[in-house]
Amino acid sequence: MYRYRTYSEPKRILVTGGAGFIGSHLSERLLKDGHEVLCLDNYFTGTKKNISHLLTHPHFELITHDVTQSILLEVDWIFNLACPASPIHYQYNPVKTIKVNVLGALNMLGLAKRVRARVMQASTSEVYGDPEIHPQKEEYWGNVNPIGKRSCYDEGKRVAETLFFDYLRQNNVDIKVVRIFNTYGPRMRPDDGRVVSNFIIQALHNKPITIYGDGTQTRSFCYIDDMIEGMIHMMDYETGKSVRERNYTKPYLSGFPGPINLGNPKETSILAIAEEVVKISGSKSKIIFEELPEDDPKRRCPDITKARHYLDWQPHISLDKGLKKTIEYFLKNVGVKT
Ligand code: NAD
Ligand code: UDP
Repeated sequence: MYRYRTYSEPKRILVTGGAGFIGSHLSERLLKDGHEVLCLDNYFTGTKKNISHLLTHPHFELITHDVTQSILLEVDWIFNLACPASPIHYQYNPVKTIKVNVLGALNMLGLAKRVRARVMQASTSEVYGDPEIHPQKEEYWGNVNPIGKRSCYDEGKRVAETLFFDYLRQNNVDIKVVRIFNTYGPRMRPDDGRVVSNFIIQALHNKPITIYGDGTQTRSFCYIDDMIEGMIHMMDYETGKSVRERNYTKPYLSGFPGPINLGNPKETSILAIAEEVVKISGSKSKIIFEELPEDDPKRRCPDITKARHYLDWQPHISLDKGLKKTIEYFLKNVGVKT
């Protein structure tokens, strides 16, 4: 099988949700690699501060826009990241979360179809729900509650995946679907509510570390730099004809839509994360136990055999190193007093 990469050719790239945690790192990396970046965001959970250092870059453009509304742009690639990712934020206005996922996907797929752009959907491990199979392989269809508090996000992301594959089958749109597992690092919001940022903020203030449930539930944490590398590898991965051989009068498909799991295959209990954060930050915090939220998945760990095989990708940054970098960021940027 042939494998071609076109990433080094400069492109005009739209990043929806570009002012968020993952989107700001992705925008930064794409600019660094010589691309033009159109960063689209409505600042629901993202902030201009995340991209303030990019604003004067000649190849960076900021578009204040809600992805549920259609937009006309000329672009080569689209990364569709717009969607609140933290449970407290996606449950704040669940109906809007569904709209962001469904209308946002429709709008970005419609745009990709019109301008023949390649489009990536930032899907999630949440499509597996509370999984009965470990680790989770892409072939697993999941165990999702369709009417629970997490459903607006889980089912919204599942419909988005369906739309992506229907646009591929029906309209030959060049799609890529990545299922992102828990990712952490600098630029997570201090009030984001996700476990790593919560524990770090609590530890730095010597406040109690709040474990929901008994802390035996697991997640697998991927440092942001590894995740960005994986997303770019997937977007760039092509099989089939070389760039010169392609017939541009017909829709061109990169030949590898996914879905593909991206995440760290090292499973860690939430209690272990709490202890690690306390240890690294030298905190005096005590660990306390609170009620487990509804439908909180008990175990989560990606099988990344496909990512290793097709993309030659796997995470390299250890939890210890990643947590140290994230703690440094919070100490420097979030005005934490110790
Ligand atoms: P984030 O909340 O930091 O970023 C989301 C961005 O989307 C924010 O900048 C927000 O303002 C923007 N946004 C929200 N609604 C919008 C709308 N209607 N129009 C335009 N912009 C809108 O979250 P993140 O962690 O950076 O996640 C980015 C994407 O990756 C999301 O789609 C999320 O579902 C997915 N994902 C993230 C993780 C993770 O662990 N971080 C895991 C799985 C999937
Ligand atoms: N969690 C916790 N304390 C917190 C925040 C989260 O124990 O202060 C738990 C949460 O119940 C879940 C895990 O940590 O079991 C990961 O939660 P997060 O919201 O980061 O991500 P998700 O549940 O979407 O994977």
